[in-house]
Amino acid sequence: MKKIFVVGNWKCNPISLKQARTLFNSTKRGLKRIKNTRKVEVVACAPFVYIPSLKSQGSDLKLGAQNCFWEEKGAFTGEISPLMLKDLGCKYVIIGHSERRKYFSETDSMINKKLKLALKLGLKPILCIDKISQIKKGMKDIPGKEIKKIIVAYEPIWAIGTGKACGYEEARQFNLLMKEVLGQKHPTLYGGSVNSKNALGYITESGFQGLLIGGASLKAKEFLKIIRLFC
Ligand code: PEP
Repeated sequence: MKKIFVVGNWKCNPISLKQARTLFNSTKRGLKRIKNTRKVEVVACAPFVYIPSLKSQGSDLKLGAQNCFWEEKGAFTGEISPLMLKDLGCKYVIIGHSERRKYFSETDSMINKKLKLALKLGLKPILCIDKISQIKKGMKDIPGKEIKKIIVAYEPIWAIGTGKACGYEEARQFNLLMKEVLGQKHPTLYGGSVNSKNALGYITESGFQGLLIGGASLKAKEFLKIIRLFC
């Protein structure tokens, strides 16, 4: 049985540890109340600084990060190694989010290095793209066996945080192109203004295996409503 991924990307939110704990614990508690969570893999990608304080152990709510560096350690001021993320209990890491590409000039070659190290250290990468060409560029020289472990999220830039979600048919067409490159069984996600009203169609109509959710993951009630659609 293929699990549906429901991945929250908190971005640079919330603004205090107290609020981060409340959001994480409310989501965790809500998830516990849902009877059949076997069919979903729920992830919260929190800001680095909150990760050590969010206890995901023994819970169905997995922890993820929103970025990582491409070296394990060393003189790289301000960077966070995937080794550190693993040590803190992270299972997933978002790599190549369009906001990182836009505001921090991340290139496909940087993303490629990050993917390689995350894979080497056993983190599950979620590669974000909005162009088909970014798949091959990001995955350059990564062996097929490893490529299978990379979850690929289609996030049209114009749909991120705008309230204008991509139509199901347009998303389906893009998903088909992704599958041509990645293989039919490869896990692909949709992201961009997903909410509890539009979420289901990206799975049933567009054929994605999950969702990458920004704004709606910051409201535990709304995020849980989306999760319940798949339980
Ligand atoms: C995102 O952060 O990846 C995202 C899709 O944001 P939103 O759901 O707010 O559009």
